[in-house]
Amino acid sequence: MARSLETQVSQAVDAWLRWVPRWEPSTHRGRVAPCRRCLGSPILSAAGLGSDVPHGVQHGLSTRMKTIIDNAVAVYTAKNLPLLQAELDQQAARNRARSYRPTEGLDPEFEGLPLDPDPVPGAPFLFTLTGLARAEESQVPSLPPLSDEAKAALRREVALADEYANLIGREVCGLLLQHRLRIQAAVAEFVEPQIEAMLAELADALDAPFDPRDPPGGLPF
Ligand SMILES: [Zn+2]
Repeated sequence: MARSLETQVSQAVDAWLRWVPRWEPSTHRGRVAPCRRCLGSPILSAAGLGSDVPHGVQHGLSTRMKTIIDNAVAVYTAKNLPLLQAELDQQAARNRARSYRPTEGLDPEFEGLPLDPDPVPGAPFLFTLTGLARAEESQVPSLPPLSDEAKAALRREVALADEYANLIGREVCGLLLQHRLRIQAAVAEFVEPQIEAMLAELADALDAPFDPRDPPGGLPF
């Protein structure tokens, strides 16, 4: 029997709680583009992970919840939406035909994040992972076109799947409310001290007086 939504949410929060102690602030340059999965996510508000919490910490939880919702929608689609299911099966077959699939099989903490770093002006990359995947995709023949009637029917099923995803999403939010306290306790224990230490380090660096023995102009030559 399938696990209830309540059990799935609870187990996903457990998994996130096991991961949080390993979280460290990233030292590399942050991305400029906001994450579409996390920015303004009702799931994160329900979990009590506000915008003051580092994105990596948020992303680990929002992705785990998204997986639960996606799986529920997949089951619903397989049972109730035959046209959409056929379309998804075809797409899956196309995906299997590609040998290079960089967005698959990632840990929840990395899933859905951009594959490539922000481009640096004036320093072009020779290739990007996204570009490689796209090049391969274009070699797989495209699907046969659908009739207008089939398109309309498919759109109706897509709308139903969306509706169902919203329903499950709201349920997941409701269930997350019960986990707020342990989520916030983990942030207080493992995340906040690291941020405070980082800020203190930064403040020290800014406060450090210039060494008067340093020659003017910086470098000693
Ligand atoms: Zn994110």
